[in-house]
Amino acid sequence: MKALQDKILADGIVLSDTVLKVDTFLNHQMDPVLMKEIGEEFAARFGKEGITKILTIESSGIAPAIMTALKLNVEMVFARKRKSLTLQDGLITSKVYSFTKKEENEISVADKFIKEDDCVLIIDDFLANGQAALGLIDIVTKAGAKVGGVGIVIEKSFQNGAKLVRDTGIKVESLARIHSLENGTVTFVEDQIMVEV
Ligand code: 5GP
Repeated sequence: MKALQDKILADGIVLSDTVLKVDTFLNHQMDPVLMKEIGEEFAARFGKEGITKILTIESSGIAPAIMTALKLNVEMVFARKRKSLTLQDGLITSKVYSFTKKEENEISVADKFIKEDDCVLIIDDFLANGQAALGLIDIVTKAGAKVGGVGIVIEKSFQNGAKLVRDTGIKVESLARIHSLENGTVTFVEDQIMVEV
């Protein structure tokens, strides 16, 4: 997605060979115009999958997920990373290890929000080692529902999550695919293919 790639090149800060900071439009401050376009793009890519619900994880997945839900005219639910005082019973949980934060979180969703007849589109901001996406897939599976696809805003294709999730057979669509962050430079998968040709 060209507008997203342009935004990453203009505003993204390469913190290391593995971490990209995008706090001007996705992870802290959020760009509503770009989020609207992202929602429309996901809706176009998953529009024929019979999606009935969007599932994401707090907090950075919420903006792209709600925009997609608006376009697909379905509801969106986000998994919580912390136990809520009002959310105690009837929870579906999964354990997610975060390589960036070096901690394990138990994520949870109230079981009343995902039903067996749901076809769920999972949306997240980044795909790195795939643990967040696999945890969300686990929650949908435990609910007895179907995963209709996984939509990722920024995939770091050089980490193993993309392969792990695609190997489950689930359709994965990433709007920007980063081949490398080496030497402080963002290289997209498409540019890399052009270089190789
Ligand atoms: P995974 O579970 O795929 O390893 O990582 C997913 C989560 O880690 C994302 O939802 C995101 O919050 C965070 N994350 C992973 N890599 C990056 C990165 O390079 N930059 C930022 N800002 N967040 C990241």
